[in-house]
Amino acid sequence: MSENTFDFAVIGGGPGGYVAAIKGAQLGLKTALVEKSAHLGGTCLNVGCIPSKALLHSTELYQFTAKESQLHGIECKGLSMNLATLMKRKEAVVSRLRMGIRSLVEKRGITIFAGLGRLLGDGVVEIEGASESSRIKAENIVVATGSSTASLPFLPFDGDQIVTSDEAIAFTEVPENLVVVGGGAIGLELGSVWSRLGSAVTILEFLPRIAPTFDSEISRLAERLFKRQGMKIETGARVTGVEKADSILRVAVEKKGKELTYTADKMLVAVGRVPHTEGLGAKEVGLLLDDQGRIEIDSNFHTNLPGVYAIGDVVKGPMLAHKAEEEGAAVAELVAGNSACVNTNVIPNVVYTEPEIASVGLGEDEAKQRGIAVRTGRFPLAANGRAIAAGSTDGLVKVVAEAQSDRLLGVQIIGKSASELIAAGVAHMEYCGSAEDMARTIHAHPTLSESLKEAALSVAGASIHSL
Ligand code: FAD
Ligand code: NAD
Repeated sequence: MSENTFDFAVIGGGPGGYVAAIKGAQLGLKTALVEKSAHLGGTCLNVGCIPSKALLHSTELYQFTAKESQLHGIECKGLSMNLATLMKRKEAVVSRLRMGIRSLVEKRGITIFAGLGRLLGDGVVEIEGASESSRIKAENIVVATGSSTASLPFLPFDGDQIVTSDEAIAFTEVPENLVVVGGGAIGLELGSVWSRLGSAVTILEFLPRIAPTFDSEISRLAERLFKRQGMKIETGARVTGVEKADSILRVAVEKKGKELTYTADKMLVAVGRVPHTEGLGAKEVGLLLDDQGRIEIDSNFHTNLPGVYAIGDVVKGPMLAHKAEEEGAAVAELVAGNSACVNTNVIPNVVYTEPEIASVGLGEDEAKQRGIAVRTGRFPLAANGRAIAAGSTDGLVKVVAEAQSDRLLGVQIIGKSASELIAAGVAHMEYCGSAEDMARTIHAHPTLSESLKEAALSVAGASIHSL
């Protein structure tokens, strides 16, 4: 095999692409990884999951110290936040992980090509680098080019005042008034960050409720709790335009037939992301996209082109890092001749606010929409000993089971550490467990996780610690 010929070439070094490359190399495939940006890790590591979670963690500590620590007898005078230090720490977190990923990839013997990868057909990928172009050939090619921010035609990004999450994770000053368009994951997470730092945050959501991918019971509770924290939330709100005068944005909104106006110094537009195929040569090579611009794939990640696969945000399904990673590992297994699949019914979904919101499988609303008869069980964190000891009693766990078989269909959690707690629901569902299985599992005491057991018990009306 010549130097530039590979068994497996991956275009895009995000969580989907770098995991595919590592798995491919582990399975003995001669592997190449093509990345156009200077760093591996993609959206998730560089401008997404990791920097946002670093900011959420730091600001949660600040919020706790400012608002709750006194209740624990912690006396703290002259508290302030140094924004530059906060951002420096976030950068350090990102850079540590960047180094880790590069080292993992290099030590697996994967050849990294820096540049824009373009499909030329017949297994050839052209790599347009900063100074020169080169070509590689591979029997199997995986496209993992991810996604980019969706924009609204009447709210053009200017990189300064009307911005994407890329800029909103790196403001150098705390905005006085921040308007966030979109009450989904990014809007709620970054809205929380800047609200904790002192911005007056207004979230404008088009749908009747924020966090619309969760059960309505959960998202309505979330809305109440976030409002209590000081964020202003307008649902059913349609942004109709924005004007700028003397560096102040005047945002026009229509709600229930009324015209409202909000003023802001910054505006974050977080209305979703779109698949990224720019520069890939999709059209020229005849790669099929669907009506939403996603690369069409079959159940084995095959595109319409022989030997070309696609995974992650650039294909159908939730735009989540762990979904991309799982698909990356699966596609490498398939290319290596093994069997593999991704269980798309059991992909957890988390919003890392305080409290956190997490779900897996079906919510009650969705199950009912599908005509499935369900039984549900709930347990409020206010009745959980550990939550009371920690002062984190806001929230609940809800378990949804098929009425007849008791099979677990979904778990929804709003509360402290929901992101960690949901893993138990995922595991039970992965093994086709029932609500009774969950209810009979021993959970350590006192832990928040006992709320899962109690919610599962309550599916059969048998919760011990609630009525
Ligand atoms: P990406 O991570 O987008 O990676 C694609 C890579 O391909 C990029 O590095 C890009 O430079 C490269 N590329 C593109 N085109 C080419 C080309 N032609 N040639 C070479 N390279 C190319 N998800 C979660 O699960 N949890 C979270 O907490 C979370 N938080 C987020 C917070 C924010 C602010 C944002 C924006 C996203 C967040 N996400 C989160 C979503 C997550 O980042 C994505 O789902 C994930 O990164 C998708 O992985 P991917 O590998 O498919 O694509
Ligand atoms: P999203 O799809 O999560 O939320 C977008 C929200 O904007 C929705 O509630 C939608 O109804 C609303 N919206 C759409 N058009 C609107 C309009 N014109 N006016 C007002 N509201 C409007 O998208 P996002 O928050 O931009 O995040 C992008 C992607 O990144 C998502 O797929 C998300 O899963 C992923 N992400 C995940 C996490 C996480 O897992 N914690 C965090 C951030 C981002």
